[in-house]
Amino acid sequence: MRASAYPLIDADEATALVLDHTPVLGVESVALAACIGRVLGEDLFAESPLPAFPSSAVDGYAVRASDAGKTLHVAGESAAGRPFDGLLPAGAAARILTGGVVPDGADCVVMVEDVEVSGDAVTVPASLRAGSNLHKVGDDLRAGDGILVAGTQLGAAEIGIAAATGRAELSVRRRPRVALMSTGDELVEVGRTPGRGQIPDSNRWALLAALREAGADVNVLGIAPDEPDPLRKLVVDALDQADALVTSGGVSVGTHDLVKPLLESLGTVHVGRVKLKPGKPFTFATLTDRRVAFGLPGFPVSSLVTFEVFVRPALRKMQGFAQLQRPTLPVRLAYDAKPTADRTEYQRVTLHREGRELVAETTGSQSSSRLMSLAGAHALVRVPAGDQSLKAGSIVEAMILSLP
Ligand code: AMP
Ligand code: MG
Repeated sequence: MRASAYPLIDADEATALVLDHTPVLGVESVALAACIGRVLGEDLFAESPLPAFPSSAVDGYAVRASDAGKTLHVAGESAAGRPFDGLLPAGAAARILTGGVVPDGADCVVMVEDVEVSGDAVTVPASLRAGSNLHKVGDDLRAGDGILVAGTQLGAAEIGIAAATGRAELSVRRRPRVALMSTGDELVEVGRTPGRGQIPDSNRWALLAALREAGADVNVLGIAPDEPDPLRKLVVDALDQADALVTSGGVSVGTHDLVKPLLESLGTVHVGRVKLKPGKPFTFATLTDRRVAFGLPGFPVSSLVTFEVFVRPALRKMQGFAQLQRPTLPVRLAYDAKPTADRTEYQRVTLHREGRELVAETTGSQSSSRLMSLAGAHALVRVPAGDQSLKAGSIVEAMILSLP
């Protein structure tokens, strides 16, 4: 074992270094159907009012409010997409269907339930109010109104409003292309029977899931051996097509840990060790052409926790998200959260509701090899370094992964 040459830096300082060195990717024009989940790269404004014409909110008769109480001749019909032609004369009504254009001259719509029909005449109620039962031009949006701001993630309603305002394509941020690989001579492809001393490569699949959830377009590479030359070749080839590299394993201080020297030779290592538990050996480097590399520790929980703390916010920055971090909520601890003297610790918890509160239970042993501490966890509780436990019953802010 050698001592590490890298200074142990504070978790928040490491986050700042990662984000400062992570670029925002460019935009591309994408058809609406492919925009789901993407991040808008431009501010959207309404080019014309919505609705663009006065339209009926109900099935009934378009009339003038001043004709209240009269029996009116039905002069024609205005159905959705088939407007009534011309001006509605005084003393007349036009049959109108939901979504139909309210004819010029008419100023309100009477619901079909509220009229008396006899032949081609209708008698309307004694009191009518101009503007009732119709949507006026610009009721939903006026021309020039802001619709969506850059940085918004496009979900159903956002895509709907873009379509309603006539946008078939949107300018969205590029998805980060991420090359993902595992390192370690002990690893075998999942599905193969491990020999003595071997284990299935589970990190690659866990990280693939985490990367996809974070919006990355992932190039899944294989397992790199603990030998400098093959590892270097795999990384260099993959970088050709990537905005980011994510590796797991090979970043601690054992003699077989080759990722740090490799990144050092390809670029600049900004973070080599962090005061973080789990995840002390987390490594971050910038490479040529604004590419970034994340060397995640091999222990399964360490790789996923450092993904949450460092990689996910960086991928969100690349995609132009306004919000980089997971949301936090106050939770009441149901256990004594014991700290680590010199490192910020992210403890995994499940949440349940008690009255108005969210209560956090530990997921059990927090060993960095024990993925069961993260499977089903709803949140990460950040326990500051030191000797002060966060006592059972106290309220802390938790980083929410999902809500129960
Ligand atoms: P390392 O960071 O390479 O020293 O690995 C630390 C620990 O994590 C070792 O017990 C490894 O066997 C384990 N490990 C490394 N890579 C993986 C992986 N891809 N899947 C599952 N466990 C791993
Ligand atoms: Mg290893």
